[in-house]
Amino acid sequence: MTAPHRPDGLPGTIHHWIGGDTVPSADGRTFDVLDPVSNQPYAQAARGGTDDIARAVAAARSAFTGWAAYGTRRRAQVLNRIADAIEARHDRLAEFESFDSGLPISQARGQARRAAENFRFFADVIVGLGEEAFRQGTEQISYVVRTPVGVAGLITPWNTPFMLESWKLAPALASGCTLVLKPAEWTPLSASLWPEILAEAGLPAGAANIVHGIGDEAGQALVDHPDVPLISFTGSTDTGRHIIRSSARHLKTTSMELGGKSPAVVFADADLEAALDSVVFGVFSLNGERCTAGSRVLVERPAYEEFTVRLAERAAGVRVGLPADPATEVGALVHPEHYQRVLNYVEIGRKEARLVAGGSRPDHLTEGNYLQPTVFADVARDARIFQEEIFGPVVAVAPFDDETEAVELANATPFGLAAYIWTSDLKRGHRIAHAVESGMVWINSHNVRDLRTPFGGVKASGVGREGGAHSIDFYSDCKIVHVALGDVHTPRFGAAR
Ligand code: NAD
Repeated sequence: MTAPHRPDGLPGTIHHWIGGDTVPSADGRTFDVLDPVSNQPYAQAARGGTDDIARAVAAARSAFTGWAAYGTRRRAQVLNRIADAIEARHDRLAEFESFDSGLPISQARGQARRAAENFRFFADVIVGLGEEAFRQGTEQISYVVRTPVGVAGLITPWNTPFMLESWKLAPALASGCTLVLKPAEWTPLSASLWPEILAEAGLPAGAANIVHGIGDEAGQALVDHPDVPLISFTGSTDTGRHIIRSSARHLKTTSMELGGKSPAVVFADADLEAALDSVVFGVFSLNGERCTAGSRVLVERPAYEEFTVRLAERAAGVRVGLPADPATEVGALVHPEHYQRVLNYVEIGRKEARLVAGGSRPDHLTEGNYLQPTVFADVARDARIFQEEIFGPVVAVAPFDDETEAVELANATPFGLAAYIWTSDLKRGHRIAHAVESGMVWINSHNVRDLRTPFGGVKASGVGREGGAHSIDFYSDCKIVHVALGDVHTPRFGAAR
């Protein structure tokens, strides 16, 4: 029995939210939204285009002066009320997310909690941030004021959609920006809860606007709009490249959080049991649809065979099941198109490497986008499954002989988002951390984050950093004001004549 559990209160149509009103597309167009278990449409979503984006940007512009003038304390109060409103809907939010994206319900609950935390966190950050002043003796004082950039364009992917939306909405609003959000078209359901959450929290109408739609229609229109000076994008590397090119026309500020193919480097002296827990969780949680997944596992030769066998055993024991089942550890992949893409990689992997676990649909799940957690061993560095982001529950394992080779292999892909290092030699752990080309490194620890730290990647994994004060910097312009304190002695041209 594989029918999806349908949460109560599913909307038949998911509308845009513009200027505080729930509205259809200007031309009335919609698109089908599927759940990943039945792969049947359960709703229609408004299919936005240039006119809808223009209306949303106009609403955000007219709300901008008022919201920016709120001041940091008052904005922080609204952010905290948004967190309250998210927490009050925690169960529904998690059910919607799990139903729409296929995430296991237990993990969708964690993501819903994290979304509320993001708002509380940025409420604290904005109140705590001071501004700088520099005094030049008694002559002059210079001070820096931080001003919100204006209307922010936010474009988000389908993996953990609500949490990633919160990761952009919270700092944008905290900074005093107003915004237009374009959620991912495969997972618009949880975003349908933003209007009631934001309105209940007292956010002024028009400060946040949501336009649903397809990437190269609504998304592109947002990127091309001249009154949107900033684009915060999370998604694939190819789309990120395209958005940077389009943004150049108006010289927009952009932040790019892109794909990954992150290495987990396991030395033979590591606590192998702890490393296994982390590797299994890191690549199979969130269905493997995680940008920071440790999807390449590099193991020092003396531990290689043992680690690979144990990893295959662990993978075989992961519970794949209905997203709504509290016992499920891996749910359904988000969409049949993505599922097919991941299955194609499994077929490629069968030709390139040694399959030691998974590789097929689980027998007990006859329909829906399910894949057994899959482990390929002896993967060569030029193999496609070593080089390309698969974004599913598939991991590539390869041996290395020494520290130099470990670093070479870790750095042998175009990506540079995260890296995980397992060793009992902390000096070596730090050496590798400095040598790997990635924005973030965890030593003997899995993907635990301190929200104050910068998040982002290097190489094809992104441009810029978000997180903590870095996010506020991104959504703010800084202006320097120089003021004379006493008499000003400007050199006088022509004085000698
Ligand atoms: P995607 O690039 O296909 O789509 C992301 C968003 O961009 C969607 O809302 C889409 O509609 C929009 N879009 C597509 N074309 C556009 C265009 N021409 N102009 C404007 N917007 C456009 O990515 P995806 O498949 O939804 O997400 C998966 C990818 O996201 C993976 O590569 C993953 O690694 C990455 N990701 C990165 C991070 C990070 O923080 N680095 C986090 C999560 C996901």
